[in-house]
Amino acid sequence: MNDGEITVRFAPELGVFFGQRGGAPVRLDGSTLGHVVESLGVPLTEVGTLLVDGRPVQTGHIPADGESVTVAAVPRPRQTVEPVRFLLDIHLGTLTRRLRLLGIDAAYENPDIGDAALATRSAAERRILLSRDRGLLRRREIFAGAYIYSHRPAEQLDDVLSRFAPALAPWTRCTTCNGSLRPADVDVVRDRLPDNTGQSYDTFAECVECGQAYWKGAHHARLDAIVTDALSRFAGPRAG
Ligand SMILES: [Zn+2]
Repeated sequence: MNDGEITVRFAPELGVFFGQRGGAPVRLDGSTLGHVVESLGVPLTEVGTLLVDGRPVQTGHIPADGESVTVAAVPRPRQTVEPVRFLLDIHLGTLTRRLRLLGIDAAYENPDIGDAALATRSAAERRILLSRDRGLLRRREIFAGAYIYSHRPAEQLDDVLSRFAPALAPWTRCTTCNGSLRPADVDVVRDRLPDNTGQSYDTFAECVECGQAYWKGAHHARLDAIVTDALSRFAGPRAG
């Protein structure tokens, strides 16, 4: 059992997690540095390099009396396993639809299946779990996770795109169920369209999973703006 104290300083981006407690001495109890960081309220999914007296260490490091710890934020974009796949927590429905709009694989469970089942699905399907719930992100079984910092969907989307740099393929995925879209002949999808749509448009697609019909013009100008903005800022050369 260690005793004594260390000091822990966090990157400014991590200040959202611990309020006024950052920088205060921390009493040692034999825990790993990873546990110390989590006990101060910072999910390890958000932590980049850990430095102890200027030397990089792993989360399993056991701190010793007098050490000075610096905790960096996760680098952007970080290296991820390809293809980038996500699983979103129940409160992120709008972000889910925007990711799908950009062709990004974004699974979502509604109604809520609970933290344990979400973590299990993340592991089984190697999906990065996105959540604003720190407790969920602390679950050991998740494949990978990321805290969503903002409550505003536009900022949430920027957060995910800048952090993971997923490949963008707008208009290729069903925003309702996450299935892939395929081109469809108007005669095939006519009975699934609102009145007169079949006469007004000539480019159609359908979801291979749920059968929902899509057509050029079905997308509100606001969605077009989201796609255009994302492509202009995040579709450049991959930095990861
Ligand atoms: Zn669908």
